[in-house]
Amino acid sequence: MKRTAVIIGGGVSGLSAAYKFVQAGWNAHLLEARDELGGLTRSMDLGSGRIERYYHFICGGDTHLLRLADELGVADKIHFAPAPVGHFYRGRMYPFSTALDVLRFSPLSVADRMRLGWHTLKAQKRTDWRPLDEITAKEWLLSTVGPRVYEVLWRPLLEIKFGPYHDQVSAAWLWHRMWRVGTSRKSAMESDAMGYFEGGSETLLNALAEAARKGGAEISTGVKAQKIVGDGDGRWRVATDKGDVEGDAVVMATPLPVAADLVREEMPAWSEALGAVPYLGVVCALLRAEKSVTDYFWVNVNDERVAANGFIEYGNLNRGREVWGGDTLYVPMYLPATDPRFAWSDEEWAKHLGDGLGVIDAAYPGRVTAKIVTRDVFAQPVCTPGFAERTPSMVGPKKGVLLVEASQLYPSDRCLSGMIGLAGIAVRRAGESDR
Ligand SMILES: Cc1cc2nc3c(=O)[nH]c(=O)nc-3n(C[C@H](O)[C@H](O)[C@H](O)COP(=O)(O)OP(=O)(O)OC[C@H]3O[C@@H](n4cnc5c(N)ncnc54)[C@H](O)[C@@H]3O)c2cc1C
Repeated sequence: MKRTAVIIGGGVSGLSAAYKFVQAGWNAHLLEARDELGGLTRSMDLGSGRIERYYHFICGGDTHLLRLADELGVADKIHFAPAPVGHFYRGRMYPFSTALDVLRFSPLSVADRMRLGWHTLKAQKRTDWRPLDEITAKEWLLSTVGPRVYEVLWRPLLEIKFGPYHDQVSAAWLWHRMWRVGTSRKSAMESDAMGYFEGGSETLLNALAEAARKGGAEISTGVKAQKIVGDGDGRWRVATDKGDVEGDAVVMATPLPVAADLVREEMPAWSEALGAVPYLGVVCALLRAEKSVTDYFWVNVNDERVAANGFIEYGNLNRGREVWGGDTLYVPMYLPATDPRFAWSDEEWAKHLGDGLGVIDAAYPGRVTAKIVTRDVFAQPVCTPGFAERTPSMVGPKKGVLLVEASQLYPSDRCLSGMIGLAGIAVRRAGESDR
């Protein structure tokens, strides 16, 4: 008889798991709490087309994603384009894409620039990350590139992503990020090329959902899992707000805090470990304007007049394929959901994140014709030193309950490709845990 897998979460991880389960000969039933699929890659309807709520780019080394896109017949919807980087420092924009840009970056002394270039090159060639798991990124940077480079360049970069945790993140995490971006680089003298899906990440998501359904998977949206309960005989029951769903295996493809809640009663020690990892939420303003602020794809900002530490001019990557007939710009800010600012209205956030762009281009705020704010309570796990030892296990302490979560990619950052890879491993492990 066919075994049944229940998958909780309809983001890229859950959908990949559902697809791979049916391919492996299982029944699959996916439960998604929202009325729509996609999780952090979800899109929204603009009337004139659909647009991703958050920016997503693909690196040349994102092999799981590239392979899956090929398998699902959507590889021709991926386009790579130059993705130049700028660094806005105290009122002036500097190009920051190539080795030459680094050498010309005048806010740093010549010695600092050389140190920075050498450190980046070495990091991109490095493979042994274990010693970096023991220290923070801040400690690593201070001891290699020094305090001035840290303050001018790296601190704002870490702040974009980790807000109040920027000085606690492990050096191994930062190393992997530098290494991954390096996989998109053809030469030190050219901008990195980044990829994107025509139609947004939804192009992949839709193809995945369709292939999973074709294979027999049941996909239920608007169903919130509440807890996972064992029947003592190796079968599992997922209690939801719409009734119970049973299976031989359960894969939680949700952020750690949600997973911790789901197994709190059944596996309290595991729940405690999962719940102990700090997690950040995200608020992101998506702005439409007739003309972009800069010609860069990614801009880091270190200027006290600008609230955001950076912004992403997606319209400079998918030029000619913008869905709303104008430039698309994302301004993200990561912060714990407990931060009182998380409760600000969309208008307050759009103003807070968007108005600062007027420091870079005074006419820009007047050109903005649409502002959309999206927020997610759980967006980014924070991996502090020693995380290699504390990485949450994929297989729970009781057979048949598994977890697929971004922190398991450590030292890699969360990324679509990594999550697709993890989902594949989880499906194989679920087979192994069969009685
Ligand atoms: C601002 C931003 C930018 C990013 N940029 C990139 C990028 O450029 N490149 C890249 O590769 N990655 C990027 N990422 C990361 C990428 O989006 C994530 O790694 C990926 O989408 C995570 O997918 P997931 O399925 O694991 O989790 P999620 O997308 O979080 O999906 C989890 C799903 O579980 C559902 N759920 C939660 N609780 C329950 C419950 N109780 N019952 C049922 N369902 C539940 C949620 O509604 C959600 O749909 C970015 C993320 C953000 C936030």
